[in-house]
Amino acid sequence: MFTPESNQFTLSLPHWATDQLNSLPAKLSTLEERMEAVLLFAGLNVRHQSGGPFAAGVFSADSGRLVAMGVNRVMPGNCSSAHAEIMALSLAQQRLGSYDLGAPGSDAHQLVVNWCPCAMCFGALLWSGIRSLAISGSGPPLEELTGFDEGPLHPQWREELARRGITLQENILREEAIAQFKTFAASGQPVYNGRQG
Ligand SMILES: [Zn+2]
Repeated sequence: MFTPESNQFTLSLPHWATDQLNSLPAKLSTLEERMEAVLLFAGLNVRHQSGGPFAAGVFSADSGRLVAMGVNRVMPGNCSSAHAEIMALSLAQQRLGSYDLGAPGSDAHQLVVNWCPCAMCFGALLWSGIRSLAISGSGPPLEELTGFDEGPLHPQWREELARRGITLQENILREEAIAQFKTFAASGQPVYNGRQG
């Protein structure tokens, strides 16, 4: 039988995230500082075994104020779409009370991620109203190092961002991000791709 409770679901960050968020500076001015914070959360998510090795932050692009941070919650949340970008974008939208992070009168918002978004998250960021994307890298190293399937990202994804007025900055702290994926791969923690094999 269906019940009101069976017709809703909740996703949340792990318990350790709240204190970590409150210990960050209120504003992170440079892209490197923002990516450092994202990498910190990705690393902690692996260390606490609270999800996959991914984190994403939504920042006010100009001031550097952190609006929301997300980490991967697929396995703990029993939700294949609980990627770090979905968590960060959704938390930012709830916090700002708007489905459109680029609504008139709002700050321009930036999404910072510790690798190129997968096929699903690329779609999600297009619909989110985000005005800029900053990533540590893209392409084969992630899949080769970890085995995570990033899906059929469109080969013209950079042009599609540009066409929609979303600026892209790449290779922010790339070596640090790759080093983290190597640590994750060596940890033996699960890679959860659906319908694997
Ligand atoms: Zn994703």
